[in-house]
Amino acid sequence: MAEPRVSVIGGGPAGLAAALEGRRLGLKVDLFEKRKIGENIRCAEGFIDSLRLLGKPEAGVRFKVKEAILKVKREFRVNCESINLWMIDRKEWQCYLADKARSAGVRIYENCRITPELLKQLQEDYDWVIDASGVPSVTSLAFGFRDYYRRHGAITAQYVVEGDFSYLGDRLKFVLLPNYLGYCWIFPKGRDEFGRETANVGIGWFQGERPGESIWRELDRFVEREGITGKILKKFGGIVPIRLRQNLQYDNILLVGDAAGCASPMHGGGIDLAFITGQLAARWIATLQEKRGDFSREVWQLLGPKLEVEKRLCELWMKAGFDFLDGLASFVTRDYRQITPWFLLRNFPTLIRELRAGMRFWSGLTLGDWTGGGGVFGIFCPEGVFFLKKLVSFFIHFTGGR
Ligand SMILES: Cc1cc2nc3c(=O)[nH]c(=O)nc-3n(C[C@H](O)[C@H](O)[C@H](O)COP(=O)(O)OP(=O)(O)OC[C@H]3O[C@@H](n4cnc5c(N)ncnc54)[C@H](O)[C@@H]3O)c2cc1C
Repeated sequence: MAEPRVSVIGGGPAGLAAALEGRRLGLKVDLFEKRKIGENIRCAEGFIDSLRLLGKPEAGVRFKVKEAILKVKREFRVNCESINLWMIDRKEWQCYLADKARSAGVRIYENCRITPELLKQLQEDYDWVIDASGVPSVTSLAFGFRDYYRRHGAITAQYVVEGDFSYLGDRLKFVLLPNYLGYCWIFPKGRDEFGRETANVGIGWFQGERPGESIWRELDRFVEREGITGKILKKFGGIVPIRLRQNLQYDNILLVGDAAGCASPMHGGGIDLAFITGQLAARWIATLQEKRGDFSREVWQLLGPKLEVEKRLCELWMKAGFDFLDGLASFVTRDYRQITPWFLLRNFPTLIRELRAGMRFWSGLTLGDWTGGGGVFGIFCPEGVFFLKKLVSFFIHFTGGR
């Protein structure tokens, strides 16, 4: 039987992963990219392998992130040794993947924009179309759901700044903002192709009330507060789609990556999930027809547990005050000296209720297991034991040791 012919729209992480995996499985793959590969990247370039399925990127790695700085009201250090997190140069990485795909036999057509009319043509000419065109996806234009991404997306703004960021070393900095569910970041990137020291400095708004003023003004205020004075080399923003669509198949089209809406609802990271869903689409097509399940369901099965935990923590983030977040950061960073009995007493019910979600989050990031977090026995993880000890000592203190 002839191998299925597959067209891929978009040469980002999702499209390149689909093309590479498709060729590996013997599919005939053509990829269409509207610009040149690596040219149309809007990203802070922190690569977190949140499902622990990918490992270290094959190219473009700038450094392994060993520690992150998390600023809430106070500043905390998060040990990232056990998290698969790298700072990368996406252009270098994507160009490497494209070369690898070409060598494997993928035909890549650059400067070739697919319109909704051309999409119809692709549907006829190929057995399958993998839409990895980001937001708004070509499929959304053809099938009338373009607005979905805006309604369920985070809004971002970012500068690429030239300057001395050596004070951060190999650390990424995250600053949570008090007035809304969102955060700012400073991700140092090292030297660019012209030898300039640079960092990606940006802001993301996730959910809830969005301040009336421009996100760019908010970013400027952040830059000023952080004392960043370097030259702005680039400026861009965009929508990060943070709600996975229920339906990911339209006739013979499969949606993957941002086109599927699969970036993290908590922090907006989407490179890894784009890559994974791209691979999944190619595997699904390569599976014998009679053995194939429902594509949307397969994606949901894989990503669902992570998205569920993150959504829950987002709700907590939105409902709880800034003081609570600050206290919670002490737990997350294991900076236990900063936790006061008063904080424990006031937030006891919430902490108990959310302990399991917190443990699932940590076991997801460090072990790739987003389902269990150790179940009931998760209480014996270091955080659980610490929490119980704190409670007991607080109780002894409160009752005067009687
Ligand atoms: C400011 C910002 C910062 C971010 N920071 C991070 C981060 O640090 N870490 C992280 O994990 N994620 C981050 N993200 C999210 C991440 O960039 C995306 O989730 C990821 O790029 C999705 O990959 P993708 O392949 O699905 O789509 P994209 O990377 O958007 O790739 C889509 C490709 O399709 C092409 N294309 C579009 N339309 C057409 C068409 N009609 N015809 C042909 N080609 C087309 C585009 O040119 C592009 O090359 C950030 C996003 C933003 C906006």
